[in-house]
Amino acid sequence: MRTLIIYIMHIKSAIFDLSAPDLELCPPESLPEFAFIGRSNVGKSSLLNMLSGKKDLARVSITPGFTKLINFFTINNEWYLVDLPGYGFAKVARENSAKFNDAVTNYIAHRPSLACVFVLIDARHEPQGIDLEFVKWLGDRSTRFVLVFTKTDKTKPAQLQENVELFRVQMSLWWEEVPEIFTTSAVSGQGRNELLGYVERTLAKGWEESELELEQEPDQSADQVQEEPEEE
Ligand code: GDP
Repeated sequence: MRTLIIYIMHIKSAIFDLSAPDLELCPPESLPEFAFIGRSNVGKSSLLNMLSGKKDLARVSITPGFTKLINFFTINNEWYLVDLPGYGFAKVARENSAKFNDAVTNYIAHRPSLACVFVLIDARHEPQGIDLEFVKWLGDRSTRFVLVFTKTDKTKPAQLQENVELFRVQMSLWWEEVPEIFTTSAVSGQGRNELLGYVERTLAKGWEESELELEQEPDQSADQVQEEPEEE
């Protein structure tokens, strides 16, 4: 018999902090940061509201004119939830450059307190070029990230499984290990505990190592844990 540790996070507070137009105007690096990004309309605002338990947490990020800002929210006085601008607007990609705005790429590339990027993928679609391109960029530069499939209530289980698998296969062609994959629905709340648990687990393990970190054994020294016996 071995011990399975389940990480749980309760949201006690979720407070909008500030919006930054670029890396220079981001807040001091006082807390670990968990950033959320995806194509426009992927369901990011809905997911952030669902995670925080606040109906309009991400309202600021959908206000016209504010869509290019990096929005910081302090959660439980313990970590920053970072709402990154969506990608995929650029009509023409410059050669050898990603179609992502400079504030986002600078933030991701030069922010030591960034603990993890949550890449949101619409569960209804097969892998899209721009999502794959972004994920490849993250993985190749060893930024820790996970995939979060959204709107799973709009997919049939078989379709969801197929789209997840397509992504997994593509990533396994690039790297030996593939990052964790979560499936979520802002409507049903599916995936909430798992995502928040992942944040808790990352915090407990020491987020400073922002290298891509895959399939590690749970750390038994974490304090917010429940233990469950697991059959051999
Ligand atoms: P954003 O542009 O990425 O912030 O996307 P929004 O959160 O504004 O969502 C875009 C659209 O998808 C809205 O009409 C939402 O109501 C809808 N939506 C978002 N998440 C879900 C979900 O989990 N399930 C369903 N059925 N609809 C969703």
